[in-house]
Amino acid sequence: MLFNIRQLLTLRGADGSGPRRGRELTELGIVEDGAVLCAGGKIVAIGKTKDALRDGWVRKNKREIAEVDCSGKVVLPGFVDSHAHPAFISPRLVDFEKRIAGASYEQVAEAGGGIRSSVDGVRRAEKTQLAQKVLFALDAMLAQGTTTAETKSGYGLSLDSELKSLEAIHTAACNWPGTVIPTLLGAHAVPLEFQDKPQDYVELVCEEMIPQAAKRNLAKFVDVFCDRGAFSEEDSLRVFEAARSNGLAVRAHISQLARTPLQNLLSFSPASLDHIDYVDDADVSLLARSDTVATLVPGVNHFLGLGKYPPARKLINAGVAVALATDFNPGSSPTTSMPFVVSLACTQMRMSPSEAIVAATINGAWALQLQKSKGSIEPGKDADVAIFNVNDYREIAYWMGTNACEAVMANGTLFRNRRGFERN
Ligand SMILES: [Zn+2]
Repeated sequence: MLFNIRQLLTLRGADGSGPRRGRELTELGIVEDGAVLCAGGKIVAIGKTKDALRDGWVRKNKREIAEVDCSGKVVLPGFVDSHAHPAFISPRLVDFEKRIAGASYEQVAEAGGGIRSSVDGVRRAEKTQLAQKVLFALDAMLAQGTTTAETKSGYGLSLDSELKSLEAIHTAACNWPGTVIPTLLGAHAVPLEFQDKPQDYVELVCEEMIPQAAKRNLAKFVDVFCDRGAFSEEDSLRVFEAARSNGLAVRAHISQLARTPLQNLLSFSPASLDHIDYVDDADVSLLARSDTVATLVPGVNHFLGLGKYPPARKLINAGVAVALATDFNPGSSPTTSMPFVVSLACTQMRMSPSEAIVAATINGAWALQLQKSKGSIEPGKDADVAIFNVNDYREIAYWMGTNACEAVMANGTLFRNRRGFERN
């Protein structure tokens, strides 16, 4: 039982019929001097500490209940990082320096850097080595309050290496106390050997990768990088069609570099469309009328030094359901920190701290179709919470680049963050 919580952010109270939008994005359901009772990996009850301590069942079972004193602290749902690419081997330091010297993301890619430069390492790697890299990233996420992470393949770009990446993700997931949602991103880039016949690569993704990943139960989602210099709208629709006919849900990277009209892709009801730096009014109103979450990844804009961010205020004011994610990847967003992303959302995209927290928790859960079990602290949901050593939830966004996460509970198991996590 967590008790004496200065601010318990339950996020309860929304009608739950769809991802949060408009005013619901600001409703944190705060209980002051709160308590959370968990059992069997689930949240059993929430309320005021004084009521919890008086409860007959709690008094009767006091000896068996592990108590965690959260005096002066903020407790919120564990972050749901709904967009991450941890299945890679090395950082891209040459690209990093080139970009500092003035090259654009696309120029770096054309010079042989970018996504393709991570492919060799993944193709050569043993599955166990790749699994260790994934687990390392997941542990870094956990230490900063993330208890659920979407985890994409996408640096293998061959049938074997994409399946190997998904298997490595599965191995890492089995060794991590949080929850991992695997996504096949075979359509991340066209590999060099298909440079002159990109349609053959789309065919490989649709006819072999997607069916095999589905048959072997290695992915829940299929993702595609639909943008200038990546895959066309037509290719992306083909990938979505293949996913649908193999029983997998869809999501897409879209309009990061140039606008793609959203109408046709939205007809597949993707769980989320991510990046969306370039949208017009027609796209915004289509998104606002849909239950597709717009996942914003401001870490990318920050790291690439673009000086420009996705139009969060315009989207929110129009009624679009937005989520926030790290987009952890070696090329454009090497951060595992949801608190940092929350901070960027506030200072660079003018989201309020409450909007940013809702976007980083329950709307992330919607973006992964996990809204019934994740993203809020309510009875019946998984016992996933983050304990921050701050007095006020707004400090999570305010202390930029600081990790104030003191402990997390993931599926009911508590980890404390002293010199790395220790199992309680
Ligand atoms: Zn991404």
